[in-house]
Amino acid sequence: MTDDHPLAPGQSSGADARAPRPDAGRPGAADLPGPDIEAEWSRALKVLDGAAEICLACHVRPDGDALGSMLAVAHALRARGAAAPGGPADPGGAGERPPTAPRVVASFGDLPFEIPRILRFLPGADLLSPPDAFPERPQVMVTFDAASADRLGILEARACQADELIVLDHHASNTGFGTVNLVDPAAAATAVLAFDLIRRMGVEISRDIALGLYAGLVTDTGSFKYSTTSPQVHQLAARLLQTGIEPGVVAHELWDRSPFGFLGLLSTVLGRAQLEPASAAGHGLVWTTVTRGDRAAYRLPFEVAESVIDVVRRADEADVAVVLKEDDEGCWQVSARSKGRTDVGRACVALGGGGHPLAAGFTAHGTAAEVMTALREQLGMGTGAPGRPGAADSGR
Ligand code: 5GP
Ligand code: MN
Repeated sequence: MTDDHPLAPGQSSGADARAPRPDAGRPGAADLPGPDIEAEWSRALKVLDGAAEICLACHVRPDGDALGSMLAVAHALRARGAAAPGGPADPGGAGERPPTAPRVVASFGDLPFEIPRILRFLPGADLLSPPDAFPERPQVMVTFDAASADRLGILEARACQADELIVLDHHASNTGFGTVNLVDPAAAATAVLAFDLIRRMGVEISRDIALGLYAGLVTDTGSFKYSTTSPQVHQLAARLLQTGIEPGVVAHELWDRSPFGFLGLLSTVLGRAQLEPASAAGHGLVWTTVTRGDRAAYRLPFEVAESVIDVVRRADEADVAVVLKEDDEGCWQVSARSKGRTDVGRACVALGGGGHPLAAGFTAHGTAAEVMTALREQLGMGTGAPGRPGAADSGR
């Protein structure tokens, strides 16, 4: 694509640092005029330009968009330092940038700190550190794909302490928790914003950068299936593929492989799926659980449960699909998807979570039956169709 990749203007909140946007989480928030997005980009670049250390964080249990966007920016910051006038590639140069590349710390707030297996093909594992490597009070911190500070897990406190906090995100429910908020609910993925940031930093899109961004783009568009897939999305994909990355390899790593035990697990959890035609205001609900015990029986990590929703949501009879995934601590990580008649984002926000109208989630305690009772109640309060029926939306 050309270098002037368009972003919908006016989606970031500006000077009102840390204060949640008054419109945050409300349907239609994306349509409200915001402060000048260009001014926000300028502020972000200025903050990054002057920084000796830049700390990057994406949301807990990262998906391809969160980790891919963050790694792409980490690669770009490293490349930029190397190429900066006066930087290592220009010793003794009289450039305007700091004489040394900024130190880059990149992490996410999970303990134990483990890169999800399906994302280990992404280049840049060496750029990642466990969250305790994060300074207590970062001067400059950038977050990726996190709609609110609590999505940063144990790095939430660091975000609250940071002198400057640049928030890169595409959730309409974003609370505007940064000092600079680059939030565009119209963007198909955070990777779209990360691409724009890298382009504006003047860094060439290398193969490593492209792989991270492409992983983000395909993750959040469901491999160009969801309704967020626009001409601009394909243009960006084309631009990234020009670097020589192989889409088949990315697809294989993300979706086409798992340990043999996954077949058994899938059989167990699909076998107990429930169809409730009267739920979700009569639009139908299908749901199942993936318990710790299920995973233990097949010696599988939590992340294998993430893809179960993509099978459950196939049921034609249900507008809403839900999977309750029990994590290693015994909490339910709930994934919800809508085909278009139900605003699952609103329901999940009401239960303390977040997401998009057609793809959202929340964390819950209690029995599966209790969690489903609470969710059913929220889904029953149908507030109208958030999108076209049948238009599956971004999963992440
Ligand atoms: P997934 O079901 O793929 O994990 O997530 C779908 C969407 O819901 C993503 O936008 C994700 O960020 C959001 N989401 C999932 N779980 C939670 C949660 O526990 N809290 C919040 N705030 N958002 C969540
Ligand atoms: Mn995303």
